[in-house]
Amino acid sequence: MIRFFNTYSRALEEFAPRDPPNVSIYTCGPTVYSHAHIGNFRAYIFEDLLQRHLEARGFKVHRVMNITDVDDKTIRGARAAKVSLNDFTDPFKRGFFEDLETLRIKRADEYPGATEPRYLTRMIEMISELIKRDLAYQAEDKSVYFRIKKFPDYGKLAHLNLEELRPTGRVRNDEYEKENIGDFALWKAWDEADGDVGWDSPWGRGRPGWHIECSAMATSLLGDQIDIHCGGVDNIFPHHEAEIAQSEGVTGKKFVRYWMHCAHLLVDNQKMSKSLGNFYTLRDVTAKGYSGREVRYALLRVHYRVQLNFTFEGMEESRQALMRVDEWLQRLRETSSSTLPGKEPGPVPTDDFQSALDDDLNISGALGVLFEAIRETNRAMDANELGADGAKAWLQWWEEINQVLALEARESMASPPEIETLTEARRLARLANDWQKSDELRRELNARGWEVRDTKDGQKITRRVGIKP
Ligand code: AMP
Ligand code: ZN
Repeated sequence: MIRFFNTYSRALEEFAPRDPPNVSIYTCGPTVYSHAHIGNFRAYIFEDLLQRHLEARGFKVHRVMNITDVDDKTIRGARAAKVSLNDFTDPFKRGFFEDLETLRIKRADEYPGATEPRYLTRMIEMISELIKRDLAYQAEDKSVYFRIKKFPDYGKLAHLNLEELRPTGRVRNDEYEKENIGDFALWKAWDEADGDVGWDSPWGRGRPGWHIECSAMATSLLGDQIDIHCGGVDNIFPHHEAEIAQSEGVTGKKFVRYWMHCAHLLVDNQKMSKSLGNFYTLRDVTAKGYSGREVRYALLRVHYRVQLNFTFEGMEESRQALMRVDEWLQRLRETSSSTLPGKEPGPVPTDDFQSALDDDLNISGALGVLFEAIRETNRAMDANELGADGAKAWLQWWEEINQVLALEARESMASPPEIETLTEARRLARLANDWQKSDELRRELNARGWEVRDTKDGQKITRRVGIKP
């Protein structure tokens, strides 16, 4: 049984999609006014784990991730750079897709952009419908707002008391036109700061609010009811609360079955965010010599609902962990092609990795299963208790779990000529019992980024993960 923690009910619930084996997932994507930071990628890696695990369990996932290419920040950026909105956001969009690839995040099936005409049409349609149902109104400032007091479920996702949203006397001046301080904009009337960004609508020239963008793209591509909607916890309120109000206000149907939110990535115990200026982009981290899969591991290894503090010590731990995996795989490959039959069956693979993930994506449990397997099989190989067939079974097991983890080294194991020369020199030194020379050559190989292991079949060398030769 697969169980997920549903933010809506604040409880673990058995996962039952509307139309199995199909599963629809909507993810709030990046606002493309700068490069995404690794906090954002924690959210996308959690969603990637979710998709990959569901697929490993036989579900067919249809995932949509929107690209927010019009909002206050993108407009401000384009005006400051004196280029069109499109020219401004385009390089960040491209950078985002490159980063997804570096982190081995599966591509969504669709990446709708809020400014595409079909979605703008849908937004205008939805807003008109909300006005018709008295759930929205145009205020004196010409903007259109959602009337939260007419939607009794408003506040249920965030477990908010509507009384708390009453005006406090400290109302910002751009909000005094609204009937209620909690009413949020569906359509923002054009003002000077918008420059040449704007679209015509029944309410005059303007642009959509951020929340309606997601409701329109999600329902256009996935229908009125979707299985899973995800994001980071900062999306819960007001963004996702507003998405529910808008979508259900129009369709009258339950919008989302399971709301899943990941906790934040922190730096020095504060949320990593652009506004605090305490963020690293993926490029900042890879420039320090870490590979994409090391960053992936570092962001993946902690349960998604637990806050994760980003440190470079954590990056080193990730490098070490992956090195253990690489060495283990190399050893298994050697064993699988040896002719030595195992004297005993040795440890055998189980389904425990997948079962751990069934439990609300318990990744720490799943990685615990992997590292326990590494310990056990290494011990069995040390004792010559794992034969070629046993090693093959473990490699097969790894293939399966790597479909979910996507952590295997892609670097070629072939070594360049100077490394071959050093390895050969070390072999000769060892034949001559010159242990001092052998140690010197090992240090030389280490310094060039290679690990050496002496086995009964001679030296085995592996590239140290993340270090460029
Ligand atoms: P944004 O571009 O700010 O709309 O954020 C894109 C996604 O990243 C959203 O799902 C956010 O909830 C998520 N996010 C933003 N900051 C963090 C963080 N520090 N840790 C984890 N997720 C985050
Ligand atoms: Zn959204």
